[in-house]
Amino acid sequence: MPELPEIEVLRRDLEKEVVTRRIKEVEVRNTRNAMKAIRRHGRRKEFQELLEGAKVEKVDRIGRSLALELDNGKALVIDLGPSGNFVKTSASEEVVTHTHVVIGFTIGGQMRLVDQGQTSEIYVIPIAGLDELRSSYDGVIDPLTQQLTWQHFSTLLDEREAPMKELLVDGKFMIGLGDVYADEILWTAGLRYDHPSNKMSSQDVRRLYRAVMETLQDAVRLRGTSWGPHEFTDLHGDPGQYQLELKVYERVGEPCRRCRSAIVEEEFNGKPVYLCAQCQS
Ligand SMILES: [Zn+2]
Repeated sequence: MPELPEIEVLRRDLEKEVVTRRIKEVEVRNTRNAMKAIRRHGRRKEFQELLEGAKVEKVDRIGRSLALELDNGKALVIDLGPSGNFVKTSASEEVVTHTHVVIGFTIGGQMRLVDQGQTSEIYVIPIAGLDELRSSYDGVIDPLTQQLTWQHFSTLLDEREAPMKELLVDGKFMIGLGDVYADEILWTAGLRYDHPSNKMSSQDVRRLYRAVMETLQDAVRLRGTSWGPHEFTDLHGDPGQYQLELKVYERVGEPCRRCRSAIVEEEFNGKPVYLCAQCQS
C-alpha cells in the first residue's frame, strides 16, 4: 500500500516527467472498475473533455493526493488506494490488466492508472478547489513538508493521550503512515507501540521526532517500500528499495540490528505489530 513516502516519490517523478507536457487524448477503458475510478464524473466524455488539450504546469502533493495543475484552470487529482499504481509508459507498451485510465501526451508517452481493487480515484476539479482539499488537512502533521518544532510536536502528543502506534497511523494526526512505517519509526525511537503519547520524556519526544523525519526521508531517498501482493512501483514501474532496510516489519525471529534480540510479533488493535521487546520501552 502506498504510504506517504511512496506518494512523495511519485510526486517527484511526475514533477520531472510531465510538467510542460500537453495532454492529447484520454481513454477511460472498458474495465469493470474504470467508472469507479472516475466516479466523480458521470460520463467518460466529461472526464476526457476536461483534460484533452491542457498542459501540465505544476505538480503538488496534498496529503495523500497528487494534484497536477493544468493551464486550463483545472487540476487532475489522483488518489491511490491500497492497490493503486500510477505509471508513465511509452504509448506502445502493452496495456496491462486493471488499467482503468490512459492519458496520452502530444509528444508521446502516457500516464496510466492501474488498480486491481476499486478504491483508487482520479478526477478533475477547478484549481481553486485544491484549497478545499488543502484545508481538509488543517491541523494534520505532514512530516515531509511541514516545519514542526519538537516542542510543538511534544504538545500535540500530550494532547492526544493515545498509544503511540495508534497515533502514528491516525490520518487525522499525521498524514499517510501505515503499519510498515509506524513500526519502523517506533523501533528507531526505542518506543513500544503501546507507549502512551502523553507519557513521554523530552528525550523520548526528541528521539521520536528524529525517527519520524529520518525514517520517512530515508524511505523517499530509497524510492519507497515495495512488498506484498500490491507492490508499490514508482512512475517508471520500478520497485523501491526501502524494504531491504526494514528493521522490524515482518522480521519475526531475526536479530534486532541494535541489540541482537529476536524481533517479535504481538497483536495490537487486532493487527500484528513488530518490535524488539528488549530495546523498545
Ligand atoms: Zn533490540
